[in-house]
Amino acid sequence: MINWKEFQAEYELRDYRAALAVVAGRIDGVAVDGPPRVLRCRFCESGVEDREAVAGEKCGGCTADDALRWFCRNHPEPDGFNDANGCLCCRRGLMPLNKADSDLVAKVVSVCLEVEMLDSKGTLFEELKAAFRTGDEERAAEIYESGDLSGWAGAGQLVGLAKDSRKVVDVLEELESALKAGEFSLLVKIWDRHRKHLVVRTSGERYRDLVEEWRPKNAGASQVLDAWRRQPIDEDLLVKLWGEWRDRVADHPEILPVRQQVQRRVDQQVYWSRFVDVEQVASQETDEQRVSLWNDELFEDWGPARAVVSDVAAARQRLGVVESIRSVLEVEFDEPGPATDRLQQVVQLGGQLPGDYVYRDVGAVESAARQLELLDQLGRVVQEGHSDLAVVAAWRSLEGSGCGNLVEGASEEAVQRALAREELIGLLLSVPVDDLDVQECDRRLLEIWDPVLEGCPDLEVLQGRCELAGQRRQLLETLDAAGRDSDVSLVTTVAENQLLDHWPFTAVQEAAISTARMEVGCLDELELVVDRGDVERFAEIFDAGRLRRHMGRDSLEARRDQIVELVAAAVVPNHRNGLDRPFMGGVKSSEGGAVRVNWAWPDPRVSDTCRLRVCRQPEATSKTLSTEPYVFEAIVHRSVLELGDGAQPLPVQADWKGCQVIVQCLVDIGFATLDGEPLVLGILGE
Ligand SMILES: [Zn+2]
Ligand SMILES: [Zn+2]
Repeated sequence: MINWKEFQAEYELRDYRAALAVVAGRIDGVAVDGPPRVLRCRFCESGVEDREAVAGEKCGGCTADDALRWFCRNHPEPDGFNDANGCLCCRRGLMPLNKADSDLVAKVVSVCLEVEMLDSKGTLFEELKAAFRTGDEERAAEIYESGDLSGWAGAGQLVGLAKDSRKVVDVLEELESALKAGEFSLLVKIWDRHRKHLVVRTSGERYRDLVEEWRPKNAGASQVLDAWRRQPIDEDLLVKLWGEWRDRVADHPEILPVRQQVQRRVDQQVYWSRFVDVEQVASQETDEQRVSLWNDELFEDWGPARAVVSDVAAARQRLGVVESIRSVLEVEFDEPGPATDRLQQVVQLGGQLPGDYVYRDVGAVESAARQLELLDQLGRVVQEGHSDLAVVAAWRSLEGSGCGNLVEGASEEAVQRALAREELIGLLLSVPVDDLDVQECDRRLLEIWDPVLEGCPDLEVLQGRCELAGQRRQLLETLDAAGRDSDVSLVTTVAENQLLDHWPFTAVQEAAISTARMEVGCLDELELVVDRGDVERFAEIFDAGRLRRHMGRDSLEARRDQIVELVAAAVVPNHRNGLDRPFMGGVKSSEGGAVRVNWAWPDPRVSDTCRLRVCRQPEATSKTLSTEPYVFEAIVHRSVLELGDGAQPLPVQADWKGCQVIVQCLVDIGFATLDGEPLVLGILGE
């Protein structure tokens, strides 16, 4: 059996050799008896008895012309053959197919025919296909013109194409020459005219791509050229079209001759419109934009630009100044001098710019101006020397402005001094001088006062006040020291000092002053008395203690000899010093043999010590008093009086019998000690 389905499939695919292979060697029917070929009418199917009859003759039955044909009974093909051996199936040796559908048999016959054609004309057909595949229209035309493939239905479609190949060859030549001439509009025109022949061929592909590429380019170039050639030029349209098309039409042969001019014109327009778009403000930003958008080369022949050439030059000049400012600002200086120079330079440069000019370093320039002003201000305040507080304030402002380090020389010294004084000035000024009593005021002022304030201009009034306080303190210290040293003259001198008028002295000071005044009064009188040689008055006012206390006093030292003389005359005699009588019997002996002596003491002004001696009397009866030689001596102080009964025990020796007990006062006046007149208290052993 034959797989007709498979056959049909191969047939549809036009793979005729494969289709033939499906039926070859297979059977669909039975082999007929007798000769398989019969001659009959192809219309009425009447058989032919006449053995002389041939294919193509008239039918004896239906009388139709060209009716007789050979038919194969094994392969019942409906149209028949002109040749007795015409059955293509038999020629291919196919098995009988007389049970198959006649349509299928007809297809098998056509398959056999195709295979036969392929066997005989296949090579040429392949050549034609290759010619089309490679776009060789010339060869396709030749094959067509040879006619070798005519009548082969299977080749019909390609042969139909080949029929136009000669014409296509001419069209391709036209296209090629337009292309070579760079006439792309013509190229597109030719293509469009012959489009239907060209689109189906490989030979047209190259031009199809070119046409696709150039069709829009042509349109763009033509629009650009229209705008360019219009008088006057439509600038906006030109800019718009050029922006749209430039990249695609830059190499267009029609654009090339004017491309540079168009580009320049567009650039001028574009650059100029950007330039004039910049906002007109006096600012660095505006200047930078305008300068960067300015184009010498483009604008040299651009009318509107010529009018602003000087503006741009001015902008460049301003930017130069701004740049100089920046470069000066970028330099760092450690030394105050150069740093100040830099500020001046910055301010000077800033002054070259218009007042309302806005630029990035304007703040720095203003700050530099402010710093210079503050620096000047400090310099002025320092030079005036009116106030340390003003110096400090100026310095603080300067420091606050960030350039405290620029101060140098005299200003720096003044600032240091003022800073050192500042707090103390404040403290001093806060003392309510008028509300305090003088002592408290002095205390407060001196507590705050410091030598650093010497000459401080802010304290002109207080300074005097402080000096007074200082002097007063000095005086008081001197007073206290003099009091301790019993320097009565100094005490009185100090106390008399005008600065201490109404001064609230302490009780101790008051006592010292009053004592000193009295003492000085006494000394003054003493000196007068000494100078007068007034023995009586001298005796009245004599005070050994006072002389001792003031023995270093020049006025006493100078009168030393006179004083000693007066003491000898006015004080030494016992009737003058009160020692002229023994007291309560003088020498008392107890029953046990112990002896005690006592005597009347001299006036305390004269002496506080007495010398007690026991002396042997060579002449027991002699009235002459002598303290020499003695066997016992004791210096007795007045304090003995305060012990017991005031009597002095005497360690009597056995051999003292008959000796005199003698007492004499010792007058110590500092620069001399004078012995008083001896007084016999009694005789021992009587
Ligand atoms: Zn017939
Ligand atoms: Zn046959």
